[in-house]
Amino acid sequence: MTSPPILDVKGLKKHYPIHGGLWGSTIGHVYAVDGVSFSVTKGETLSLVGESGCGKTTVGKTILRLTEPTGGEVLVDGNRIDNLPVSELRPLRKRMQVVFQDPFSSLNPRLKVREIIAEPMLNFGMAKSASEMTDRVAATLDKVRLPRDAMRRYPHEFSGGQRQRIGIARALGTDPDLIICDEPVSALDVSVKAQVVNLMSDLQQELGLALLFISHDMAIVEHMTHRVAVMYLGKIVEISDRRSLFADPKHPYTQALLSAVPVPDPTVKRSRIILKGDVPSPIRPPPGCRFHTRCPYVFDRCRTEEPLLREVAPGQLAACHLHDTAASKAA
Ligand code: SF4
Repeated sequence: MTSPPILDVKGLKKHYPIHGGLWGSTIGHVYAVDGVSFSVTKGETLSLVGESGCGKTTVGKTILRLTEPTGGEVLVDGNRIDNLPVSELRPLRKRMQVVFQDPFSSLNPRLKVREIIAEPMLNFGMAKSASEMTDRVAATLDKVRLPRDAMRRYPHEFSGGQRQRIGIARALGTDPDLIICDEPVSALDVSVKAQVVNLMSDLQQELGLALLFISHDMAIVEHMTHRVAVMYLGKIVEISDRRSLFADPKHPYTQALLSAVPVPDPTVKRSRIILKGDVPSPIRPPPGCRFHTRCPYVFDRCRTEEPLLREVAPGQLAACHLHDTAASKAA
């Protein structure tokens, strides 16, 4: 039996109004996130992937209420949080933490590491004395494999990878159930990316965390996720378990993304699919399938009718009319 989701996102929308004209009235919208649904269970990593500008970071911000949703629902343990007053979000902030992309700007350079890691714990009254707080910070540094004397130093004394470990330690301090990681390794050197990703993967298993891992890097995702949701222009076009997605992607956009990922096994050949044109503007997304302006398999129906995300193979959901065609031919 699968466990109930910690995080359940249903039809989430974030449309940013565009103001203009003489009176500053609303003249359009940026459809950054346009009806996104997925769930994450305890002990699971779900990766949200796609090119820059596809809306994946906005999904993370909207779940955390760093920006207000335009529509849809966000549930934590079955309770809606998208419509809670900000004053009632406090207990949830303890349970849901975030690790940001840039370990250079996300840590306060004027604070020592002890204060940086202790701050969220202090906010939630998690230690009764200074010595208890020091013990908690030390235990958190142990979890991220940093020496305990790191707490007496400043962020600038650490490398990028170590700073991101400090960011992860800060997130772990409140004993969260869910961590939203927004491109946590994209600012790091190639050589340290793998170390930080492996650490997150180990922590996820040791602590039974749920991770929402937002990334544009399919090669990173391949090694640390359970399931993958692929976003294009504000919508999810495919959700699959990792193995199926990398072995047999069902959506033409996923196929194109994966074709650019190097394969370590020289006997396996992946032919590169070069997509034509640029991603259309989220202000005027194309009608029908949003991918139709770049899809190598486009046909008439794609230009007028939006494909729905539905199961096309066990464990694999895709939004593409090709699978209707294939199913009708097989029938
Ligand atoms: Fe391509 Fe049509 Fe499928 Fe969209 S619905 S991905 S345009 S084949």
